[in-house]
Amino acid sequence: MSVQGSLDQQWARVRGRLKDEVGETAYRSWLKPLTVGSLDGGQLRILVPTRFMRDWIRTHYADRIRALFSGENPGVQTVEIVVASAARPDAAATPANDAPVAATVAPVAPKPEPVTELVIEPTPALSAVEDRTDEMSAPLDPRFTFENFVVGKPNELAFAAARRVADAQAVPFNPLFLYGGVGLGKTHLMHAIAWAIRKKDPSRRVIYLSAEKFMYQFIRALRFKDTMAFKEQFRSVDVLMIDDVQFISGKDSTQEEFFHTFNALVDQNRQVIISADKSPSDLEGMEERLRSRLGWGLVADIHPTTYELRLGILGQKADRIGAKVPPKVLEFLAHKITSNVRELEGALNRIVAHAELVGRAITLESAQDVLHDLLRASNRRVTIEEIQKKVAEHFNIRLADMSSARRARAVARPRQVAMYLAKQLTQRSLPEIGRKFGDRDHTTVMHAVRKVDELCGTDPAFAEDVELLRRMLEG
Ligand code: ADP
Ligand code: MG
Repeated sequence: MSVQGSLDQQWARVRGRLKDEVGETAYRSWLKPLTVGSLDGGQLRILVPTRFMRDWIRTHYADRIRALFSGENPGVQTVEIVVASAARPDAAATPANDAPVAATVAPVAPKPEPVTELVIEPTPALSAVEDRTDEMSAPLDPRFTFENFVVGKPNELAFAAARRVADAQAVPFNPLFLYGGVGLGKTHLMHAIAWAIRKKDPSRRVIYLSAEKFMYQFIRALRFKDTMAFKEQFRSVDVLMIDDVQFISGKDSTQEEFFHTFNALVDQNRQVIISADKSPSDLEGMEERLRSRLGWGLVADIHPTTYELRLGILGQKADRIGAKVPPKVLEFLAHKITSNVRELEGALNRIVAHAELVGRAITLESAQDVLHDLLRASNRRVTIEEIQKKVAEHFNIRLADMSSARRARAVARPRQVAMYLAKQLTQRSLPEIGRKFGDRDHTTVMHAVRKVDELCGTDPAFAEDVELLRRMLEG
């Protein structure tokens, strides 16, 4: 048997032991792609496909590999981890290496030394990374396709941009940044892009996940000291979509990681698609450089729905579920439920479910009846001004003191209550609320919310006051 042949056998045994020690997942991610190179003067070369892996294996597994290997073969004194492409030329010069380098390492073309750590290498041998991408990507909703998306004025730009990204051969703009309020179709469009790309070219690797999941994965990787694997997985995708990126704000290390991943992908001309509830420049708690970088590609906003769009969506949705809904009822819903598409769909579903249950046709009256609670809520839109007015009246202070600089308890406390209610009863963000209260900082609002919460817990009379105000405002 040739020297290489017996080395391969020894390596197979070492790998078996390693697999038992580290477990299936780590094994597949890190150890499976390794192959054994040459043994030369006591130095054994282990070949890896990328520099990421080299560094990772060096710090985490090299000692163990050496110990196990020298147990198999006392001739092994040291272990050197080398990237396959770099290993080839001088490895070929050593006599021990005339047997072919193990077949699992695909040829990697020699290339110039990479400049930074962030360069994504083409990694044909990294099947382990591929294995894990599915695990990474959140499942896609089969209903969220372009075909099922109703286009109208409020979303036509976002829709066109999404289509372009899905259809284009080359990356048309990077990133595509979609933003808009809740339930207006951001997630729908992202899934639609993913479906379209998968259909057109299944070999392209598309990862879709929420920013929360991204964060969770990252924190987990930190905990298991597995951040290299984490990086590698993201940096070898063709299309990366991160939904609801506002959740990353304030989480510094995740933001940092996100920023690097983002840069690496954009530099390598991979498509990145981001969604958020605000434009890049309005994302609070987001580092300035990240905010500005997010706005470099195409920023497309989805505006609140119009009556026409709502009617269109209802019609399509009713058709799709095969429900007979009189046009009058659809019009009624499109008029009354204006908040977002999710609620609109929810209302339609309720009406249809109710009609099926009681075995009667849908009428305007039955619809009104079924939805009375929903309709009441959407009839009432409290404004910050109303809140300020009511709270000022209740505590008997001047309305002007809601925005004044006075800090006496007698005015500061009511002001905090008003901020608290503004947060609870309106959709306004903390900075927006702050602005309405004499240009105060969002941290002041945050503090007010906390303070009022705290007082409600300790002072029943105060809690009652707040509750009373809330009920009055909600009408
Ligand atoms: P977001 O991610 O912006 O909060 P989603 O994409 O989850 O909103 O949309 C909420 C619901 O509304 C989904 O069921 C989605 O299919 C539907 N929807 C939103 N916009 C449209 C549209 N233009 N046409 C059809 N369905 C829509
Ligand atoms: Mg969403």
